[in-house]
Amino acid sequence: MRSAVAQHPPVGTVLESEPSIMSGPPSAMDSRPISCPLCTPDSVATLWSDDHFRLVKVVDPHLPGFVRLISQQHVAEMSDLSATAQRQMFRLLVAIESAMRVNLSPDKVNVASLGNQVPHLHWHIIPRWKDDLYFPDSIWSAPKRSPAASSAVTVVEVERLARAETFWKSVPEICAAIR
Ligand SMILES: [Zn+2]
Repeated sequence: MRSAVAQHPPVGTVLESEPSIMSGPPSAMDSRPISCPLCTPDSVATLWSDDHFRLVKVVDPHLPGFVRLISQQHVAEMSDLSATAQRQMFRLLVAIESAMRVNLSPDKVNVASLGNQVPHLHWHIIPRWKDDLYFPDSIWSAPKRSPAASSAVTVVEVERLARAETFWKSVPEICAAIR
């Protein structure tokens, strides 16, 4: 567990791990830009998927349990989704947030949809603790701790990562029950 954690890129990579999009012509066959990173599912990170959405885990030792809910369609805004998909999206977000609270007991859950870098609808669902690197700012802010402290994984974070594994294992069944 510790070695796996230690091998992970240091903090500050969260923003950089947000995939960047390059300008490129849309495919002639559909609206998916060839260069959109979210149009290509990452099978390793994917916890669950159906026709409308997929849930992927974001492994960051400083934010254990972080997940993203990604639209399977290349659309920029939630109002681009069908009414059915909109309802499912909301129910998924609530269910995932609930499971996160049960398993990880965070001080706060941040649910964010930005999409400025990648205009492909996705939601960040992030457990937050008062002692995490960025609290009370967003995770895209500068860390509150020194770079040296930021690169070290604390005992508390290792314990939370173990609980995150339980959360990640439980969430596919929860998502599959939602239509
Ligand atoms: Zn896309």
